[in-house]
Amino acid sequence: MRVFLGSPSRRLLQATLSALSEPAPLVVLPTGAASLPLRLPNLPMMEWHSFWQSLVGQTRLTGVTTAHLALCAELCQHLLNETDYFGKVRRSPRFHRQLVARWVEWRQNGLTPEKLEQAAQSVAQPPLNTVAGIDSPALREEWLRKTGELAMLWRGWEQRLRERRLLDPGACWWEAVSLVQWRQVSLPARLLLWGFHDLHAVDIALLHAAEQANCEVNLALLYDPTLPEYFAPVQRLLARLPPATRSELPNEPHGAGRQPMGVVLSVADSLREAEVVARQILHHLRQGVPPEHILIFLRQPAEAAERLSLLFERYGIPFTLEAQQPLNRAPFVCVLLDALRLLLGKGFSSDWLEWLQNPYLGFTRETHHRLMQIGKQARTADEWLEQAQRHLQAAPLFEPIFASINALRDRLRQPSSDLHATLTLLVQWLAPRPEDSQAQNDLAAAKALLELVRAYMPLLQRMPPTVAVAYLDRLCDAELYPHAWGRGGVRVLPLEQAGLVQAPLVFVMELIEGILPRRHPDDPFLRELERHALQAFFEGQGEVVYLPLRSERQRVEPMLFYEAITAATEQLYLSYPRTMENGETLPSSYLQRLPMPCEQRFYRLEELIPPESECLHPYDLALAHAQQRPLEGSSNADPSDAPERLTLPRTRQRVIDIDRVFSVSELETLARCPFQHLFRHRLRVRIPRRGLHLTQIGTILHAALRHAYRQHRHHPPDSPEWAQALLDSLQRVLNTESLDLTHWQLQVLHAYATRLLQLFAQREARYRQQFGLEARHFEWAFGTPDPSDPEDEVAFISSFDPDSVPGAYRLTLDNGRVMRLCGVVDRIDFSPDGSVAMVTDYKLTRSPRRTEIEAGLAFQPLLYALAVKARYSPERIVIAFDELAHGRRVRLVPYDEGLIRRFRAGEWEGSPSEVMAVLPQSRLEQAITRLREELCHLLTLLQQATVTPTPGEHCRRCAFSDLCRKAVH
Ligand code: SF4
Repeated sequence: MRVFLGSPSRRLLQATLSALSEPAPLVVLPTGAASLPLRLPNLPMMEWHSFWQSLVGQTRLTGVTTAHLALCAELCQHLLNETDYFGKVRRSPRFHRQLVARWVEWRQNGLTPEKLEQAAQSVAQPPLNTVAGIDSPALREEWLRKTGELAMLWRGWEQRLRERRLLDPGACWWEAVSLVQWRQVSLPARLLLWGFHDLHAVDIALLHAAEQANCEVNLALLYDPTLPEYFAPVQRLLARLPPATRSELPNEPHGAGRQPMGVVLSVADSLREAEVVARQILHHLRQGVPPEHILIFLRQPAEAAERLSLLFERYGIPFTLEAQQPLNRAPFVCVLLDALRLLLGKGFSSDWLEWLQNPYLGFTRETHHRLMQIGKQARTADEWLEQAQRHLQAAPLFEPIFASINALRDRLRQPSSDLHATLTLLVQWLAPRPEDSQAQNDLAAAKALLELVRAYMPLLQRMPPTVAVAYLDRLCDAELYPHAWGRGGVRVLPLEQAGLVQAPLVFVMELIEGILPRRHPDDPFLRELERHALQAFFEGQGEVVYLPLRSERQRVEPMLFYEAITAATEQLYLSYPRTMENGETLPSSYLQRLPMPCEQRFYRLEELIPPESECLHPYDLALAHAQQRPLEGSSNADPSDAPERLTLPRTRQRVIDIDRVFSVSELETLARCPFQHLFRHRLRVRIPRRGLHLTQIGTILHAALRHAYRQHRHHPPDSPEWAQALLDSLQRVLNTESLDLTHWQLQVLHAYATRLLQLFAQREARYRQQFGLEARHFEWAFGTPDPSDPEDEVAFISSFDPDSVPGAYRLTLDNGRVMRLCGVVDRIDFSPDGSVAMVTDYKLTRSPRRTEIEAGLAFQPLLYALAVKARYSPERIVIAFDELAHGRRVRLVPYDEGLIRRFRAGEWEGSPSEVMAVLPQSRLEQAITRLREELCHLLTLLQQATVTPTPGEHCRRCAFSDLCRKAVH
């Protein structure tokens, strides 16, 4: 055996190949390297597992499969009870997964159940009991209990594997050693192993046997004698190899040759880190660097996938990331599991309706609409299904759907139902066509789910169906499937693969203590000291058993870092977030001893707006333009006044300017969150929203109502023509607005809005008759509302009510300051004599609570009532909120017996106290006093340039959460 030592990795390979000269050896790479962008043309290569499979036969070597895990689960549930050492976790799929992984690794390293039992007895005795830290009788007993159980379960598992004719993923490698020793395989003449950090005992035995069978075995191991602390794992591996000829290849000294340029990016938090990296990549792409020339290394790519894909999509950067994800994170699997629960009668009518909206069914909006109309009285899932079938039995459209549901339901509810067969039918029914990457991910997840269920069938069949489905849910939490994000372009790879690839531009992200270097956890089965003692026992016996210690695994970390930074040929970016999950991070200690000079770039949280040189994308430009826009009404911005709260004087000036007209919606935003106010109303940053969101639905409904009232006023509100006019208006709005939605989302929007407008038409007729009011003004504006806010419905109003007043409403505050206000009232109704006015605001969901209004915290109703009072002088004002989604009009009525009778809640409206409340004049005045105090307070905050993010429930609809990083969801 010959070992070549050198660095960096690519140079080591090239130097080894030239030292070996002809014939070229077969290069063997670690398992999992096949899909890497290696760019090593004309070099015969194979990965370790496939190589040995090709020699000894596909069926003789295996990795761990779900069948192995399922057997372990069966065994644990059969042999363990609550009081056993592992009794409490005997049903945990994660425990089974870890246990099987450990057995396989132990077996590959020479340990067997018998050896473990024998060694455990010796370790329990002096002097090894002190080494193992079990020198008290109680600890000793616990040790013997634990190892006894481990050995017993291990033996039982191997026995069951034999009974089920399944290969043992650990022992099969030793059988391959025998085949090589008996010369029953045909080996290549020369082998070269490259990219390995460690080898199992069985791997070394295989190489040794190959050599005995006249195969020339070479190893290229990464090593640099000037940096011994980086390469401790190589020294350990060398000590475990049989006597070998060593060739130390000349290393490229640091500073010699062309060194990559290094840049360290210190960024406020993880999202911002991804943003800074994305901008940097975009900058290089603009300079002509092909995306395939860029690599990103991350410790946990799957964890960062959502974040990276969000930002890369925003910046239009093509990328590929492949990682294993838990099955229960796959949307298709969630739909399948929900279906199983509903078929078993678990859930409510709303769950069926929600499930039937899943995109895999591909229903049209008409279908949804029809489904929404039925079964409103039904409560349970079964009741709803029955009602739905009764209502729709004559409709040919629904016949095949209910036929499929019924067939699946009957099959699932049979006494000994076959979950796998039911699930197979469900997958066949719903599976998407493999047209895009999402569909391929769905299909990969479905395949993994079916394999999982097949493997666990013996266990699942013994459970009642509902328990089996609940257990399947837990299995899906532990079972992984391959998920791919993006296709082509920049490659995102796990750090462990850095030693095999190379690119002109490399980014190494998340360089913080705990992630790189990672703190490896202790083994949950054999702790560090116990491994020490076992290792000492086996060495004393002269047995080849290898039990790597946690401290040894820890020493691989510097080597991984070395591989990552030497993968760059031209430019290397090293980035780290200074905070993570709201806690401070510690930059990786590796950044203190970089082998090359690096430029440091520090990105502050306040630097939300990129410098001009980095404005590469419409999103950045939107930020920058917002910053450059001149201030309204301010001519004398004096930067020297700026306190340290905001680093940008111009921004600060915009915030503190209070000598202007305020819109009511702006004040409500300010009261909720000053940070959101800064971006939305002062910097006017417009962040295009992806997908369908509530604000959009609300805006479309407002627009449809406005159109209907303006264009179809001649129809009586209780006529069918009026109801139809509302729907026509909706269609017109949807046709004229350019909504950035998929066909599917448009269908959902149309179905939802149609339903709400139909409900609206029904109650409008009732209210007109009951209240005796006439709708007179729509979109009545006071002041001059700013139509540039797309999140505000004002932007969609093409013309305000003709009776609108251009002058701002002037409200005198307690400190004597007069505040100028503008706003738009959705609708004003009047009694025929004009003595009673009703100010109505349309709300998609919840209206302000009465307590909020009385406390002066709900600005809109109070200020609108004041503005209407000032303009029309009605004797009484009713404040109303038409809750579109809840189908009711909540009202606050002044204390007047006649009005209270007129506006009382009807039985059809639900709880009377939630629908109608009396607001005596004294309370209203008190509320307005508090409102003035609150507005004074807000103006003070503005003058102090306070822009602190204030998270709360409102974050759910905020477009700036990825800027403030404080959102709560
Ligand atoms: S996400 Fe929440 S905390 Fe952040 S700006 Fe929006 S509302 Fe404020």
